[in-house]
Amino acid sequence: MSKISINIATGSLQQAEMIVGIDLGTTNSLVAIIHPENKKAVALQEHDSSSLVPSVIYFDELNNIIVGDVAKQHLEASPQNTIFSAKRLMGKSYNDVKQNEDFFSYKIIDDNTESLVKVQVGNQFYSPIELSSFILKELKNRAEHILKTPITKAVITVPAYFNDAQRQATRDAGKLAGLDVLRIINEPTAASLAYGIGTSASQSEQTIAVYDLGGGTFDVSILKINNGIFEVLSTNGNTYLGGDDFDKSIIEYWLEQNNIAKDELKQNKQLAQGLRLRAEEAKKQLSNADEYTTTYHNYALSISKEKFENLIQPFINTTLQHCKNAVKDANISVDEIDTVVMVGGSTRVPLVNKSVSNFFGKPVNNSVNPDEVVALGAAIQADILAGNNKDFLLLDITPLSLGIETMGGLMDVLIPRNSKVPSKAARQYTTQKDGQGSMRIAVFQGERDLVKDNRKLAEFNLTNIPGMPAGLPKVEVSFMVNADGILKVKAQELRSGVEQTIEVKPQYGLTDEEVEKMLMDSITHAKDDIATRALVEAQTEGEQLLETTEKFITKNTALLTKEELTTTAQAMQALQLALTMNDKNLIQTKIEELNNISRPYAERIMDNAINVAMKGKTI
Ligand code: AMP
Repeated sequence: MSKISINIATGSLQQAEMIVGIDLGTTNSLVAIIHPENKKAVALQEHDSSSLVPSVIYFDELNNIIVGDVAKQHLEASPQNTIFSAKRLMGKSYNDVKQNEDFFSYKIIDDNTESLVKVQVGNQFYSPIELSSFILKELKNRAEHILKTPITKAVITVPAYFNDAQRQATRDAGKLAGLDVLRIINEPTAASLAYGIGTSASQSEQTIAVYDLGGGTFDVSILKINNGIFEVLSTNGNTYLGGDDFDKSIIEYWLEQNNIAKDELKQNKQLAQGLRLRAEEAKKQLSNADEYTTTYHNYALSISKEKFENLIQPFINTTLQHCKNAVKDANISVDEIDTVVMVGGSTRVPLVNKSVSNFFGKPVNNSVNPDEVVALGAAIQADILAGNNKDFLLLDITPLSLGIETMGGLMDVLIPRNSKVPSKAARQYTTQKDGQGSMRIAVFQGERDLVKDNRKLAEFNLTNIPGMPAGLPKVEVSFMVNADGILKVKAQELRSGVEQTIEVKPQYGLTDEEVEKMLMDSITHAKDDIATRALVEAQTEGEQLLETTEKFITKNTALLTKEELTTTAQAMQALQLALTMNDKNLIQTKIEELNNISRPYAERIMDNAINVAMKGKTI
């Protein structure tokens, strides 16, 4: 699969259906298509530049959004305004990321530890979905510029271990970037497709291991492929292990060789950056040479291949331990694996290939560019969806998303569109009011964020919920779409067992044109929709915060100083006022301010309460 720059003013690329494959990576992202002439997958690139677009976003003083190589240049000088690794935040709450907080040099908001993280740049707040959408938008623009045709449809890849929320977040990011995301596919599946695995030429059942070692992450997936169906048997890995660790070990070696104290790097950012760049250069050179030598500011920096391999062997061993775990979780033995596929820039290191090959007892597949292999596979999947490639079996899928209405009239998707049928999903909800005895379940179909813009399929009441304080009942709503596309919705209060079921035919009465229109509407309105959703979410969060603060103050008035009461009242008033204005950032700022005021005394009062409770007790 050769790489070429395409400049097509004429030819079949002008056809209406141009579906691109996108690898939205942690470090780098790229777009690939099937070349209209030779029908091979190719990564898109502008003239001599690389096909890889660094997944870095820089916000300049005027809040202009800059993505890619130029943004990357601001990482050192402007860490607060330069966002990298946004993919690590997708679908995550602050609780999920806090143990790795030091990794991020920008501000991650920790107001409400249960809800999804937000990133603050200046006085603006961004969700990881918005951040990813900036990268996708850039990729879309580049692709349109290279191909000279509008791009509105894409297949986007995600790690096999991404959960439902992370996949949904990726889909939303695409939508926000003006892309109709036809399919979210697993990165290892895409990599296998790029090697032609799973095509009609190899119909029999196969077991594949995909070893993906990038700059900052490692994962291994075991897949079973049968008749064009890819099933993930297991995944394993470490989201903080990769080529960056190789670079760091070289830097440490050089520090030792040149008697430079580690602390000096903390003081001298320029030296740190200079060494980092040279370490990466050394690593890359040692993939093809036995020795690397250079001088930098009077320091002699050299390293042999043998030394380098000694340094990185422990990291490689760790990846092999993950492979062992993955094989075990898949309930197979190593010799049952038919093919090993290599993905990620760090698999260019010869020792990595050798060690992985030794572990699996067979040569590895590494002939396709490891940086592009995932995007190339996504392009192949896109081509199948466009109906150009009949070698694969496509499973039946749901044409539109299915979900229920939640607070503020928001659509909560349980089964995303394009899910394979039969399909099942369940999620838990709770009551809003004390003693609430019934709960209305309204089922909707469509892609818009507000249910009022979607199509209502059914509505029913779950009644006889025993009286409990708000938030205590656990109502599980489950959706099951059978092979005929019939949806069955069940709601059950788990503490009491009260339940209710209805059956709906989601497609009934919808023509293909209507489905198409609903999809197009969702793309046209994506920006407004996502802005409205963010506003409604901020308003709900603000209202809840006011309510809990009010309760807390009433209960603990005696324990608060006069000043605390006054500043709290002022901050509450400011938040109340902000809630009446349709400005998400203002609301979030006021939430943050109120939290900052209440956090110290809330902690103090909690600590006291614990001390009182513990008095006289020994642990
Ligand atoms: P990825 O996250 O897949 O884009 O991989 C990027 C990682 O691959 C970075 O750590 C790069 O330094 C590393 N890399 C790229 N080219 C080479 C090479 N020739 N030899 C060793 N590592 C490389």
